[in-house]
Amino acid sequence: MHLLVVEDEDVIAEPLVEGLEAEGFAVTRVATGQEALDAPPVDLVLLDVRLPDIDGFTVCRELRARSEVPIIMLTAKGEEIDRVVGLELGADDYVVKPFGLRELVARIRAVTRRTAGRKDAGDVLVAGDIRVDVPARRATISGRELQLTLKEFDLLALLASQPDVVVDRQRILRDVWDTTWYGSSKTVDVHVAALRKKLGDPTLIETVRGVGLRLRG
Ligand code: CA
Repeated sequence: MHLLVVEDEDVIAEPLVEGLEAEGFAVTRVATGQEALDAPPVDLVLLDVRLPDIDGFTVCRELRARSEVPIIMLTAKGEEIDRVVGLELGADDYVVKPFGLRELVARIRAVTRRTAGRKDAGDVLVAGDIRVDVPARRATISGRELQLTLKEFDLLALLASQPDVVVDRQRILRDVWDTTWYGSSKTVDVHVAALRKKLGDPTLIETVRGVGLRLRG
């Protein structure tokens, strides 16, 4: 597994790289936001918020716009706003400095597990009787073809990529509607209602109040 460490401070970056390599990760380290954007694709990015050129938030948004690479933000203690903004821009998790290597490695493994479905989005997804052929943009339930709108299809594909897992609303808004505007939550509800109707079984998509949606697998 190949990691990209984006951190300008050598006193933090050097022991971090050494520690991660000792844990068996291949590590590329860069010190600026621009270098991070120019770096070849990796399996996961550890991204400092305070960088000398482009700030970490912008880097995060740019990386997310072009790939599904998991991103863990490295934020300074007490800067709660960093955490919130980072997650809104598409980061998968955050770690507060100073952090222990053990904690960080645990977060890396958790994020990797959680985001494993994303890379396979080009395949046929199966959740119970539902089959979603993403490249062909076709979905069936028990062999019956579903006539879905663009957004209904994207929503079903996202939920089917992680059956039995609650997909949070923020992620749904980001991945399907390309927004994190909370007001658009109503839009999600409307599409879920339509999708439930087309599936013919309203219990297949479960609303987990205050969190998100889960497709029964
Ligand atoms: Ca920094």
